[in-house]
Amino acid sequence: MNDAASLAGRVAIVTGGARGIGEAYVRALHGAGAHVVIADVLTGEGHALAEELGASFAHLDVTDEAAWTRVVDGVLAEHGAVDVLVNNAGIANAAPIEHFTLRKWNAVLAVNLTGTFLGCRAVVPAMKAAGRGSIINISSVEGLRGSVHLHGYTASKFAVRGLTKSLAVELGPAGIRVNSIHPGLILTEMTTRIDPGVLIVPLARPGVPADLAGTVLFLAGDASAYVTGTETVVDGGMTAGIPHH
Ligand code: NAP
Repeated sequence: MNDAASLAGRVAIVTGGARGIGEAYVRALHGAGAHVVIADVLTGEGHALAEELGASFAHLDVTDEAAWTRVVDGVLAEHGAVDVLVNNAGIANAAPIEHFTLRKWNAVLAVNLTGTFLGCRAVVPAMKAAGRGSIINISSVEGLRGSVHLHGYTASKFAVRGLTKSLAVELGPAGIRVNSIHPGLILTEMTTRIDPGVLIVPLARPGVPADLAGTVLFLAGDASAYVTGTETVVDGGMTAGIPHH
């Protein structure tokens, strides 16, 4: 591994890291030498993954402001720094707009958007003190275009993309970089009900969590030292063209 790709000595928090794409981020960052803190509501899976890798697990509901303080304070006390935060925890819900309840709307915005905001805010003081940091916010191709029935999800992922830009502008002078990743269709629990056959993907297959590993490593490490406020699309080319029936 070259120096720019190495994360040796760095400390990374990955929300929703117990399974799915978050697990792939955890494995990639761990493989590059970082100490990874898996922050998730899934205690069983989170502990098991942490034990397998020699990583840490912290129970965290990303919508809980006080829990963020507790988790970040704990990481700083034990490891002395937070160099990388991957705001990955997310949920999806869907309904035609006439049936899209306020409860559904509030639920998806709370996790995907407010959770990301709280995470960014929680790590900034430590990153400012260190004079460096990389925050990686997980948006979606639904942060770039509309999608039938996914009203709250789409709104939340556009907002995550926007929050990423305002933070990048504000925090650049402090040495903190903030970028978003926009996955396409990736096979996880979240997408089990989606038929991959209905989507036109130029690379001719749905993605798997490991397809995101290279992007998170690039954005976390020094290879991207001059990269902030960007949006990296990892979708097999799905949003590159105009879909035709
Ligand atoms: P997933 O398999 O459902 O994993 C999401 C993880 O986040 C789960 O462990 C989940 O736990 C956890 N989580 C949910 N709510 C949480 C909360 N309030 N606090 C802490 N953790 C919470 O989903 P995924 O497919 O890996 O998606 C990961 C991220 O990528 C999400 O932000 C998603 O929007 C984004 N994304 C996914 C795709 C895709 O095709 N899969 C495409 C674009 C973007 P529970 O199971 O208990 O809820």
